[in-house]
Amino acid sequence: MVFLNGEFIEKNQAHISVMDRGFLFGDGVYEVIPVYNNKIFRLNKHLLRLQTSLDSVKIKNPYNSKEWGDILSKLLGFYNNQEQSIYLQISRGVSDKRKHSFNDLTPTVYIESSPLLTKTKQALQAGFAAITQPDIRWHRCDIKSTSLLVNVMYSQQAKEKNVEEVILHRDNQVTEGATSNVFIIKNGMLFTHPTSIHILSGITRDLVLESAKACHIPIKETSFSMSKLNTADELWISSSTREIMPITQVDGKLINCGNIGNVWGCVYDYYQSLKNA
Ligand code: PLP
Repeated sequence: MVFLNGEFIEKNQAHISVMDRGFLFGDGVYEVIPVYNNKIFRLNKHLLRLQTSLDSVKIKNPYNSKEWGDILSKLLGFYNNQEQSIYLQISRGVSDKRKHSFNDLTPTVYIESSPLLTKTKQALQAGFAAITQPDIRWHRCDIKSTSLLVNVMYSQQAKEKNVEEVILHRDNQVTEGATSNVFIIKNGMLFTHPTSIHILSGITRDLVLESAKACHIPIKETSFSMSKLNTADELWISSSTREIMPITQVDGKLINCGNIGNVWGCVYDYYQSLKNA
């Protein structure tokens, strides 16, 4: 079952107009929200970020927080799986003419949920590979927009090269991943790009920082260079579906001789405890 514009229907019955601005222009925003033990994880944070994205592109939020909570709970009621990943998209709606500018429209709301397949700690400890590419995205990466062509092209490149992620850099500074935030540990200190128009402020990013604090790791929210990335003691990426994943190889070169390092384990364990709290 999926949710489309106020109705719970079978996915193969869910259709939208070709005049939907989400289809014509990628004119919409979205959220991906994890569910653990049948509980929606950090729903309020996701709803706050959704509101910020909507405000940035002038789409009216069709529901208040309680209504969102009720819709999502009802949708989850159709699934047995305790671990889910909710995909929620709001486009500006359907217009009668294809025109870049817009009038007041009724937003199109689509929500689906699918099993969240998280990797075990043991599987994560094997470490993963990434490649790097210039960050050629626009200067509003803080908006969780459905216009994702650069992210799509880079993710396809990662798939073709059989690596986990593409790490992006702008002016020689690491920004984030094509679908994740990026962290390094250097001399016991955690570095990650500050929240700005150049990154999406990940909900998991905040949880990584919360977990690092609990592990007494000093945190520097400052950008860091590509050479610092390559000489990091540890490198991780984070997202709602991947959680916190150690990267041990970048552009074919090993990070920390291919060892995942000591800090990741503590931060990962604390994050797991937050999920189960
Ligand atoms: N940055 C980008 C570009 C993303 O696409 C994502 C997630 O899809 C993230 C960061 C991580 O965000 P979150 O932790 O909220 O999933």
